[in-house]
Formats: sequence, structure tokens, C-alpha cells
Amino acid sequence: MSRPKVAFFDFTSCEGCQLTVLDALQTHPELLDAVEIVQFREAMSEKGEDYLIAFVEGSLARPADEERLRGIREKAGILVALGSCAHIGGVNAIRNRQPLEKVRKHVYGEKWEWFDAYEARPASAAVKVDFFIPGCPIDRSEFLEVVTALLLGRQPKIRDYPLCVECKLKENVCLYDKGKSCLGPIIRAGCGAICPTYGDGCEGCRGLITNPNINAAEDVLKEHGLSVKEIMAQMDMFGTYQMMEMEGVGHD
Ligand code: SF4
Ligand code: SF4
Ligand code: SF4
Repeated sequence: MSRPKVAFFDFTSCEGCQLTVLDALQTHPELLDAVEIVQFREAMSEKGEDYLIAFVEGSLARPADEERLRGIREKAGILVALGSCAHIGGVNAIRNRQPLEKVRKHVYGEKWEWFDAYEARPASAAVKVDFFIPGCPIDRSEFLEVVTALLLGRQPKIRDYPLCVECKLKENVCLYDKGKSCLGPIIRAGCGAICPTYGDGCEGCRGLITNPNINAAEDVLKEHGLSVKEIMAQMDMFGTYQMMEMEGVGHD
């Protein structure tokens, strides 16, 4: 029986999510018996153009990226956004709050006009994304869960409840009780609340839960006299694109 063909593509990214995939393949080599990888620039030189599942890493950072992504979308039966950059714009979108010309001059100096750029955005800004795997980088186990579900023809289940739930299950002392801040009440669980567990506030790499106003861990917020709006204002690191969308600010 032929194995489903899978391809990996990268746009503007640090390639950390692809490295996580390579890591997952090393610890779970049986996956290579279940799928045929036809394109994966970080791991092989072949470039097969016939694939069922396309995993896309990285943000769109210039107009030409959209055309390339649309080409991938046309060929793929299923398109999965891999990691925070592709899912929500991620760290690349930090620049979106600055005038684009200023950013290009800062990065490219005198030759800034030679390099095309626009406001960084997620894959879903240009094409239909069927599924996403959140995080910066992605979680290896979650990647394996999603691939397994897709191979079994099931809908992958990405958690959609606040990180605080996982944090409480770990019996962590809330960082707000230690005078620190944390985005846990509005951010998607699934990482095991790793940052708060080690004493750092969540910075939101997994993106907002659906409708944070309703689903936020309100007990945590109320206890500390905070509102959803107040903690959302701290989402600059990974969530600038999402925030600007919610504010109704256009993207160049
Ligand atoms: S989501 Fe994070 S780890 Fe993944 S490519 Fe983007 S910056 Fe790198
Ligand atoms: S706010 Fe942060 S530290 Fe506090 S319970 Fe939620 S995830 Fe944990
Ligand atoms: S705790 Fe927050 S910032 Fe840290 S990995 Fe989880 S979602 Fe990302």
C-alpha cells in the first residue's frame, strides 16, 4: 500500500519547528514507515511536487510569499500551519507596529529598497489553513498526535482552554502571587505550562484561546484584580498580528 506523501515548506522562520520535526523523526522512526516525505529542505535535497499533506513553517514576510504559498495550497489536500510564525504571525510580526520603511532601513541599511517586505502575517492571511500546530517551537508530542490523527482520517484535536488549567493541575503557585505577570488565562494550553512551571510568565506562543473573554480563567484574573483586556495588552512577543486584527488595524 502506498504511503501518504508529505512535504515540509518554510517561509520566514528560525526553522526551529522543522528541527523539532527532525527530532521527532529520530525518536519515532516508525513514522517514516507510515508516510513518504517528498520534500523537506532542511533534511533532504529531493523536491517532490506531488503531496497530500503540506506542513508550512514561518510567516509570510513579503508579497511574493503569498504566490508561493498559494501554489503549495493548490497541490496539497491538507495544509497544516506549523508553529507560531505560520499559525499566528509569531515573533516576525513584532515589526508590524513600526512603519515598514523604518524597519526595512534598520534591517537592510542603504540597500533597503532592494529587498521587498510587507507586514509579517500567518499562512491563514493568504490561504485556507486546515489545521495548525501551535507553539514556538511546536511541541514534539503534539506534532506526533496531529500526524497520527491525520493518517487515521480523524480531526486533530488541539486544546482550546486556558493554560491556567494545566498550570493548576501541576499545582504551581500562580506567578501573580509572586508579583510577576503571565498570559496563562487567555493562552491556549498544551505545552504543560512549561514557562510558569520554571518561574517565567507565559508570553503567549501558542496563541489566544477561542473567545478569550468568555473562556479566560476568570478566577485567576479576578483574584488579582485584572481584566482580559489588561493582560491582552502584553501580547507583543507572539501575538502582535492577532492583536492588530482584533483592534481592526489594517496590514500593509
Ligand atoms: S514558531 Fe518559533 S521555533 Fe518555530 S519557526 Fe517560528 S520562531 Fe522558529
Ligand atoms: S496566570 Fe500563569 S502562573 Fe498563574 S495559574 Fe495561570 S498559567 Fe499559572
Ligand atoms: S507557557 Fe506560554 S510561552 Fe511558554 S511554551 Fe507555553 S504557551 Fe508558550
